[in-house]
Amino acid sequence: MYDLDAADLHAAREQLVAFSARLLADGLAVGSAGNLSVRCGDLVAITPSGISYHELSAADIAVIALDGTEVSSPEAPSSETPMHLAIYAATNSGAVVHTHSPEVIALSTVRDELPAIHYAITSLGGPVRVAPYARFGSDGLASAAIGALDGRQAAILRNHGAVTCGRTLARAYENALLLEWLAGVYRRALCYGEPRILSAAELAEVSAQARRLGYGTRRRSRSSS
Ligand SMILES: [Zn+2]
Repeated sequence: MYDLDAADLHAAREQLVAFSARLLADGLAVGSAGNLSVRCGDLVAITPSGISYHELSAADIAVIALDGTEVSSPEAPSSETPMHLAIYAATNSGAVVHTHSPEVIALSTVRDELPAIHYAITSLGGPVRVAPYARFGSDGLASAAIGALDGRQAAILRNHGAVTCGRTLARAYENALLLEWLAGVYRRALCYGEPRILSAAELAEVSAQARRLGYGTRRRSRSSS
């Protein structure tokens, strides 16, 4: 019924291994924490549960249907599979990245939102909400994440971590890095006093200019460069 040898699924497995290794190197998770997935049509390729990223290979990546049915799972799929599937059901994302990045977790324990400390937050859709706490792997966490993601490419999970999404795994991963960087800048600003926060009008102006400049698109196509 499903083509497990499809080229896009093969590429997704390789990408998931590569970005999992970066998760540790970039300080977004430790050990086997965090998880990543890529949607390929009706299927989702997702990192397995409890395997050290240093030992992870493409053959270990689990493949599940959008309804949660395990299609190919040499190892148990990530414990956060319900959250990943809920995000694919609620958005048109092509990839989801879940991290345990420290700046974001620290913020989640004392704040309800990461405010617009820097204009780059427009890439995430605006100020990033902190979702109410719910146990890891629970349906409650999945629905809390969906609520916090409304109109955003990122959400912070209270006392837990963060989840970001994007059209591609590379974009979802960049969003995770950006979110962690913004939380770090906000913490440092708080050391000086009460930070100035960008207004909704200022953020709208940034988004309009980014659209005019065609940010995120290349002037020359890849084939001609
Ligand atoms: Zn987690």
